[in-house]
Amino acid sequence: MHHRHVAAALSAVLLAASAQPPQGVDDRRLRAADRTAEWLAAGRTYSEQRFSPLAQINTDTVKGLDLAWYGDVDTERGQEATPIVVDGVLYVTTAWSKVKAFDAATGKPLWSYDPKVDPSVGQIACCDVVNRGVAAWNGRIYLGALDGRLIALDAKTGREAWSVVTVDQSKAYTITGVPRIVRGKVIIGNGGGEYNARGYVTAYDAETGKQLWRFYTVPGNPAEGFETPELARAAKTWNGEWWKLGGGGTVWDGMAYDVETGLFYIGVGNGTPWNQKFRSPGGGDNLFLSSIVALDPDTGKYRWHYQTTPGETWDYTAAQPLMVATIRWQGRPRRVVMQAPKNGFFYVLDARTGKLLSAEKYAPVDWAERVDMTTGRPIERAAARYDRTGRPVIVSPGPLGAHNWHPWSYSPQTGLVYLPVTENNGPYGDTAELKVNARGYNTGVDAAAALPLYRAPGAPKGGSVRSYLQAWDPARAKEVWRAENAVYGSSGVMATAGGLVFSGDHSGTFAAFDAATGRKLWSKPTQAKIVAAPMSYEIGGAQYVAVLAGARGLPDGQGRTSAVSANNSRLLVYKLGGAARLPTDTFKAVQESTIQSRLNPPLLTGTNEQVIDGQASYARVCSGCHGAGAVADKSIPDLRYSTTLNSFALWNAVVTDGSRAAQGMASFRDILAPGEAETIWHYVISEANKAKAAEDVARRR
Ligand code: CA
Repeated sequence: MHHRHVAAALSAVLLAASAQPPQGVDDRRLRAADRTAEWLAAGRTYSEQRFSPLAQINTDTVKGLDLAWYGDVDTERGQEATPIVVDGVLYVTTAWSKVKAFDAATGKPLWSYDPKVDPSVGQIACCDVVNRGVAAWNGRIYLGALDGRLIALDAKTGREAWSVVTVDQSKAYTITGVPRIVRGKVIIGNGGGEYNARGYVTAYDAETGKQLWRFYTVPGNPAEGFETPELARAAKTWNGEWWKLGGGGTVWDGMAYDVETGLFYIGVGNGTPWNQKFRSPGGGDNLFLSSIVALDPDTGKYRWHYQTTPGETWDYTAAQPLMVATIRWQGRPRRVVMQAPKNGFFYVLDARTGKLLSAEKYAPVDWAERVDMTTGRPIERAAARYDRTGRPVIVSPGPLGAHNWHPWSYSPQTGLVYLPVTENNGPYGDTAELKVNARGYNTGVDAAAALPLYRAPGAPKGGSVRSYLQAWDPARAKEVWRAENAVYGSSGVMATAGGLVFSGDHSGTFAAFDAATGRKLWSKPTQAKIVAAPMSYEIGGAQYVAVLAGARGLPDGQGRTSAVSANNSRLLVYKLGGAARLPTDTFKAVQESTIQSRLNPPLLTGTNEQVIDGQASYARVCSGCHGAGAVADKSIPDLRYSTTLNSFALWNAVVTDGSRAAQGMASFRDILAPGEAETIWHYVISEANKAKAAEDVARRR
């Protein structure tokens, strides 16, 4: 059916839906979410297809799409949330788990809520202090806060209704994911798979916050008994004393419910530590790491699982977004669960039984040749198992994966899945012993040991190779088109009944593509990088498209135009004929800062040994926020430009005494060993001098 016919058919249904008075979200409304003009959940519907049935903005009209309103966001770290729209109100989360409510038609701010997360929690957030959105139910808005709280807010006022702590806060658990609500139960997972977490999901009564069930993804200490029979069986796939570091398997992003099968699907993360030699000496599949697991949402009971990467050792989480759809499979409609996890294979599973239907590479992959369709197991390349060979190796994809958390979308019109793909590789090396740090990154991988391989003849380009928006046919397991990104990086995706696919990028634009061909039909500058996913809703006869912008510093050539966010974090909302304009004046406020605009490091006084030690400590403790190799890739200061390089006392005041705790840099006193603050200081000075020398050479040319 052409999209204009769909549009005509849908508009009658949608008008009927919007004519009903607001009544709060319930199960009936969520089950009918695919026919409403609103966007009631981050994934839009239970199936999480993120497909908007609205078609006022379509392949013909999209050229008239422009900014309707924008809302400034007062944080400047990664912005990963998909907004929701319920009863005319748009709810969105920002970095540091803050929630904002806007009038969805006018952009008028209605309320905001700050859970006041202790900045020191940022130290145990592997991948920035982000949050991917809220859930709505019966007049309330539900938030998972970075520090492990699950919080219910009054949807009208933003006032707290209840709050429960869902994790052991003495451990390195964090929440960045979206709570899911199924039949009155709020279900939430957590992150921490690089630290000391044992993964699980928990269901709470949405009205009271009372805990109803919990499903652990990996077995605990056998001496304490197993919570379920499945965990007793899973324990047979583990060796050694895996529970001491938790084992990993965190459910930090992908979850979906299917109204047809009645099952709730969760995506399970990587092992802790990554290197399987330390986690489970002698190997084993290590269930349910890197698996898709189906549960009964009423009881939390196990139904089936499929493990994508048995005995994973490369940070190959299967925590990526999950999607349920009815696709044409061998000529017949078939209910399936789909996932494109980090490991580079696109999986199609039967939604009822978990039977593997298809597993093909959607990006360059060299850790495995293929997946054996009889056993469902990957045929691995032996050299990729650095933990067994003891030899460093470059593997594709690397730890960031061929697809990460960035939302994808399925269009029932085209039968295609649209996903952001990153082609990359990563260095993996074995290490003799695992030095465990209670609040630090514990991977057991010596990446530096593999770095010289990048200098060998014929070696791949290091790290990030290219990225693109890909249209994938899940029935034929084939790419249909791709739209290459000018600047490497992923951004969330939404397909619509207007025959369009919307996505932002890292060069600072937001664009619409023809869903059938991939031709770019429209784009607007955003002054900010975009990693989050767009969404769409209709109010008063107008279709809106909204996206949260802001991530990892400013795009090349952009200046700061926001008074409250260094990376121009904003909620951007578009409609046909929109007349709003982003500010163009560069914001010149003087901020109290230790960062200067030019490289001006002191001479290096540290020894070679100090610099080498500092490099290892930096990689383990600092790189997650301040960037690999001391080069910042986020809106977090590039330490090579810091004035604190001039004096160890100044540096130590920040690093050890926490003098910039209010700005989000909490004290690392309890994390760093004696002398580590100083060796890291020497290392950063060394890197700053190298960068300065390179600049000088470039200037003389
Ligand atoms: Ca991980």
